Amino acid sequence: MNEETLPPFEQAFGALRQFTRTRSSESRPLEQCELCSAGLAQDHPHLVELISRQILCACDACAMLFDGMEKSKYKRVPRRAQYLTDFEMTDGQWESLLIPINMAFFFRSSIEGRVVALYPSPAGAVESLLPLEAWNEIADGNRALSRLLPDVETLLVNRVGHAHGLTRAEYYIAPIDECYKLVGLIRTNWRGLSGGADVWTEIGRFFSDLRSKADVVSGEANA
Ligand SMILES: [Zn+2]
Ligand SMILES: [Zn+2]
Repeated sequence: MNEETLPPFEQAFGALRQFTRTRSSESRPLEQCELCSAGLAQDHPHLVELISRQILCACDACAMLFDGMEKSKYKRVPRRAQYLTDFEMTDGQWESLLIPINMAFFFRSSIEGRVVALYPSPAGAVESLLPLEAWNEIADGNRALSRLLPDVETLLVNRVGHAHGLTRAEYYIAPIDECYKLVGLIRTNWRGLSGGADVWTEIGRFFSDLRSKADVVSGEANA
């Protein structure tokens, strides 16, 4: 359908879309600090609002206010990512966590006093009820999990390649904003029932980026 055959409303909307697209590519910065409205560079810090679990974009000055603060509404998301090369989880242990797909992330919520399990879906992040005993068994076997910073760091699990017999399962300590980035790219690139080729390319790119910036941590399992 070309522009002339569209009903007037769609034409107007099309024009508006065109306008916002040109504007946003010309005027920088694209994003604003959600606390003080200062313009943000592309590589800016994030905060988590603990009650809503929302990720907020912040400027350096605002992010610094919440650096390592214990009792506050927001926490700053750290940058470090660790690739846990000898994380131990059997297929049976994974199944006992009851996650319906081969990808998930887990974080300790200080407000709720428990570990929360989330997995990406075409509709966004979905929470899965986590059987405590199954989680504790995995946590007991992997010392790395005791270092997870509450609310802002996750255990990010990627068993997609492993499930298809292609690659080994991957385990990371990841900043929680990275996990939501993964959720966002799955939501925006998912097509049809199986997701389509684009989404799998994006997922592959996400994990190779994460791997390349993560510190490799080994020699810890069962310690
Ligand atoms: Zn700010
Ligand atoms: Zn941001």
